[in-house]
Amino acid sequence: MSGVAVSKENPAPDTGDLVVLSNVNKHFGDLHVLQNIDLTIARGEVVVVIGPSGGGKSTLCRAINRLETIDSGEIVIDGKPLPAEGRELAALRADVGMVFQSFNLFAHKTVLNNVTLGQVKVRKKDKKAADERARRLLERVGVASQADKFPAQLSGGQQQRVAIARALAMDPKMMLFDEPTSALDPEMINEVLEVMQQLARDGMTMVVVTHEMGFARSAANRVVFMADGRIVEETTPAQFFSNPSSERAKDFLSKIL
Ligand code: ADP
Ligand code: MG
Repeated sequence: MSGVAVSKENPAPDTGDLVVLSNVNKHFGDLHVLQNIDLTIARGEVVVVIGPSGGGKSTLCRAINRLETIDSGEIVIDGKPLPAEGRELAALRADVGMVFQSFNLFAHKTVLNNVTLGQVKVRKKDKKAADERARRLLERVGVASQADKFPAQLSGGQQQRVAIARALAMDPKMMLFDEPTSALDPEMINEVLEVMQQLARDGMTMVVVTHEMGFARSAANRVVFMADGRIVEETTPAQFFSNPSSERAKDFLSKIL
């Protein structure tokens, strides 16, 4: 499977590559925020991205979803280069679900409508089918009873689970999670991680930026350690946590563990 390291504990299925980044570069002014990034993600693989703040993790996720453009290099998803605009871009965003630290639900829409909107507008489903799917997904993430409320009436953990349901409603090929539990009160972190664990077990291809080391150990097939715009090392979770090879990773782990 194209050189992807796979742990014995968490073997990834060998079903080909879904995402291929080749020599990707991105600058913000003078800041070289993504530096020659090469990264391949197999179908069904769970990749956890770890690293110090400012290292480029969010920019990497946003580039895969084309919320950021790149300056050079190539990003191919499911065999196709990222589209620049228009209907193809909307389809890409639906294919690559994204969950942010800050939930980003539509505040003026009910929970149910948050989960039906994209299905109707982008996937062109009829309202009834979209409603049924939304209710099933809200059930799956454990917030079915909140369907008619507005986001502000929910806890942070509930809002984040709605955000996951909203992304799943588009039948994405993969999911990006950018620090999905960082804004949550401690007692709500696990309810979100459990939904993500289940998604991983169900075979979803996932890129997860997180400092939740328990999640990384149990769900990741691979850990990518990013710092200063580079992938410094990528290896199995077992190897990364017990014996990281770079000084940078050792230093980072000594501060967070
Ligand atoms: P991380 O998610 O690892 O904390 P980011 O990808 O958010 O890192 O940011 C990487 C660097 O790029 C940081 O120095 C950040 O300040 C900078 N940066 C991020 N977004 C922008 C932007 N839109 N304009 C200018 N600088 C940015
Ligand atoms: Mg970030």
